[in-house]
Amino acid sequence: MGMNGEANSGQGSANTVFPRRISPYLKDLIARDPAGPVARQFEPSAEEGFVCPCENPDPLGEGYSSPVPRLVHRYRDRVLVLVTGRCAAYCRYCFRRSETTSRLPALDEREIGPMIDYLADHPEVHEILFSGGDPLTLSNEDLMKILSRFRQQSSGRVFRIGTRMPIADPQRIHGELISGLSSVGPVWIVVQCNHRDELTKEAADALGLFIRGGIPVVSQTVLLKGVNDSVQVLKDLFHRLVELGVKPYYLFQGDLAPGTSHFRVPLAKGIALVTELRTHISGLSMPVYAVDLPDGGGKIPLTESYFMEETKEVFRFRSIDGTIHDYPKEGGS
Ligand SMILES: *Cc1c(COP(=O)(O)O)cnc(C)c1O
Ligand code: SF4
Repeated sequence: MGMNGEANSGQGSANTVFPRRISPYLKDLIARDPAGPVARQFEPSAEEGFVCPCENPDPLGEGYSSPVPRLVHRYRDRVLVLVTGRCAAYCRYCFRRSETTSRLPALDEREIGPMIDYLADHPEVHEILFSGGDPLTLSNEDLMKILSRFRQQSSGRVFRIGTRMPIADPQRIHGELISGLSSVGPVWIVVQCNHRDELTKEAADALGLFIRGGIPVVSQTVLLKGVNDSVQVLKDLFHRLVELGVKPYYLFQGDLAPGTSHFRVPLAKGIALVTELRTHISGLSMPVYAVDLPDGGGKIPLTESYFMEETKEVFRFRSIDGTIHDYPKEGGS
């Protein structure tokens, strides 16, 4: 995959220490299908030793936009807070492995102060994303302490919690967590889910607890070779999420994290897949296919363009089913 077709083989790079950790719940799920799509996401493989020259330990370039330690402010109206490096299970393709491998400890009272000061100086920030690692690895008490602290200074702001916990350890989601989150609302949950097989009865129940508790849930999916790189698998996944009341939000092209090339789907294949997928599923079921550009470029949507040309009188488009249609330029006043 490298520019000159050569590869380093993991010369002491971060991926060689990326820990294996699989929750007991996921171990049971994997035992039912040991070579299946869930196993592939969590069981280490020898291919991780292959580090492509295009890969980078800080694939998102977040070092470029961190004004305060553990706070990333890359987009105008939202910031990302790295709550912890821990997860209930480590995904082998993890793009946040620099945090998870450094075992970033839970956010400390003293680290929150400078963040609160920064936010006070930046009233344009409307959303605070709590991520990591997985913030739900913290105890309810520790998590609520952090969230309440931010809430005191952020009355109008929306909180977003990025988590894989409903998939990795569904029992972690229970009434006390839901009422705690409701009390510091508005909170949205962004759950990462990559295959229909992850949406067991237990996972569905966990997601239902949020939704019935008045906490909206959207999903993020990473496009992964050998896990979900087919129209049928993605269709089954997104249909099931919508049935459960979860809006598919993003489908991510794989980031350039070290030792993950065996998971990466070539961009051209991803675009073709997504264009085909759109002819099969509704707008509600369809996430935005996006890539986080290397070196801090940020997220961009990767849509096939339906725009074809502009003439003196019209804009010309190709429809989803391939036919050509004109929209008049002088259609409004
Ligand atoms: C993804 C991301 C966000 C959120 O972007 P949305 O497009 O609003 O989901 C915010 N900050 C950082 C650093 C991110 O990586
Ligand atoms: S849950 Fe997220 S942060 Fe944790 S290992 Fe998986 S991808 Fe990485």
